[in-house]
Amino acid sequence: MSTDIRNVIIIGSGPAGYTAAIYAARADLKPLLFEGSVTAGGALMNTTDVENFPGFPDGIMGPDLMDNLRKQAERFGAELVTDDVTEVDLTGNPKVVKVGEEFHYAKAVIVATGSGYRELGLENEKRLSGRGVSWCATCDGFFFRDQNIAVVGGGDTAMEEAIFLTKFAHVTVVHRRDTLRASKIMQERALANPKITFLWDSEVVDVLGEEKVTGLKVRNVKTDEIGELDVTGLFIAIGHDPRSELFKGQLTADDDGYLLVQHPTTKTEIPGVFACGDVVDHVYRQAITAAASGCSAAIDAERYLQEG
Ligand code: FAD
Repeated sequence: MSTDIRNVIIIGSGPAGYTAAIYAARADLKPLLFEGSVTAGGALMNTTDVENFPGFPDGIMGPDLMDNLRKQAERFGAELVTDDVTEVDLTGNPKVVKVGEEFHYAKAVIVATGSGYRELGLENEKRLSGRGVSWCATCDGFFFRDQNIAVVGGGDTAMEEAIFLTKFAHVTVVHRRDTLRASKIMQERALANPKITFLWDSEVVDVLGEEKVTGLKVRNVKTDEIGELDVTGLFIAIGHDPRSELFKGQLTADDDGYLLVQHPTTKTEIPGVFACGDVVDHVYRQAITAAASGCSAAIDAERYLQEG
């Protein structure tokens, strides 16, 4: 149990949280950052090559990038703890952050808990993540030039990803129903695209391949018939779940669970509480945009502390 009141506690260890820690530490705020236990390092720990983070002309492996950010934060004196925040009370002063039975106190809190990509729940999907299975067309589309790939999903994001991916590849959209959920305009665009084929009433039941994806096993939900789809990539676009549960009742979220901030700042409706990265962003969802908003959050927190 610590009765110290920290300047700032950061919750989350992706590009947003670590960048906030680098800036807060360099501003001499001595931040305390909770990284999470199982998922420390954030979403990029689950991928291989990251080719679009500026500053790495030859690309960098996701876990190496996160390790670099972590070390950079530590170098300036950020205190990093590999544990999960289990409860918060952000309404009073100081703010209370609970980790199991331990209480921590801070004048300012930065929320950077990210967002989880929804998974199909298949064993081989996890194993082949970053090896042909992806959740991000902008990040990985480039790797599939002139190949056959599949997109799973029937909403706006799935159609957007499918259309984007036709720059590189032929795309088969695998969808559980015989109609799309996407908006009319997105449906029209996708249906009219000659590089997109639709596999209706179908669900992916297995991802095939040893080192890399070589195909999919697909079940027709009406006939129960199982077939194989010859693709080298699978993009899963069935939604995201921002990790904002912890803040329910204290911070306002939109209908999809993304925390609301006063753009272009990272201020939430509670003075001294800031939110950044994918937990607020349903538009860009990139490592560099998450890092940028982590930087903004640290600067916003520093100014708040100066004023107070
Ligand atoms: P995250 O990276 O999601 O990190 C948040 C972390 O906070 C969590 O993982 C967890 O460790 C921690 N946390 C959550 N809750 C708690 C809690 N209660 N207590 C303590 N800690 C907690 N983007 C690119 O720009 N280029 C790419 O090539 C690219 N490839 C990707 C590949 C994959 C497979 C995936 C899934 C994403 C990829 N992205 C890529 C997207 C990018 O990873 C995200 O946009 C970025 O990581 C978001 O950063 P974040 O800091 O907001 O959150």
